Amino acid sequence: MIQKNLENIKSQIPANTTLVAVSKTKPIEDLQEAYTAGQRIFGENKIQEMVDKYEALPKDIKWHMIGHLQSNKVKYMAHFVDLIHGVDKFSTLKEINKQAKKHNRVINCLLQAKIAKEATKFGLPFSEIEEILNSSSFTTLENIKVVGFMGMATFTDNQKQLQEEFSSLKTFFNTQKLKTAAKNCELNVLSMGMSGDFKLAIQEGSTMIRVGSSIFGNRNYN
Ligand SMILES: *Cc1c(COP(=O)(O)O)cnc(C)c1O
Repeated sequence: MIQKNLENIKSQIPANTTLVAVSKTKPIEDLQEAYTAGQRIFGENKIQEMVDKYEALPKDIKWHMIGHLQSNKVKYMAHFVDLIHGVDKFSTLKEINKQAKKHNRVINCLLQAKIAKEATKFGLPFSEIEEILNSSSFTTLENIKVVGFMGMATFTDNQKQLQEEFSSLKTFFNTQKLKTAAKNCELNVLSMGMSGDFKLAIQEGSTMIRVGSSIFGNRNYN
């Protein structure tokens, strides 16, 4: 089933769109099945769970942290994480930089932008992202690289609203791409779109989609 689901999704997305298989809460066997089907990028939202899966699975997997970050846990994934999607504080960037330095690495990060209208969603307003990228303290962080932005749209069926939210982030992304001069910022990745809205997100300029339930089935939180 997992293999079929992966094939089905890949048949619907352009070849240059990166597919992150969101495997949070799912057992190792499910990830192994996706791996056997050729999937190499997995997304998790809890650091400890990602560490456990990293240790159990082949080492050519790229692990993406897609959840909200607790700074004090960054150290547990600093030696292997490939991309951190949900950075929404400058202090978190500093902590990632500090931990990456210990391992002599540069860790790629996405700043999470607030595009949803809901009050509960995490993320930075565009103005604050711009402030960070243009601050002198940002340029001193040599062990991180901001490679793009991540956004989560409002949980709604309203296609017009979704489209506007995605499109606003794409526009902001394009503007910042031309504007930012910092050496540790090179904007190439726009992470938006999940099981329910990835087609629309791609249409509006997403380069990376994070798909969970359409690959692995519904999650059971117990
Ligand atoms: C769980 C999660 C996803 C995947 O959601 P699905 O609807 O299952 O595809 C994508 N992005 C983030 C940040 C998530 O937490």
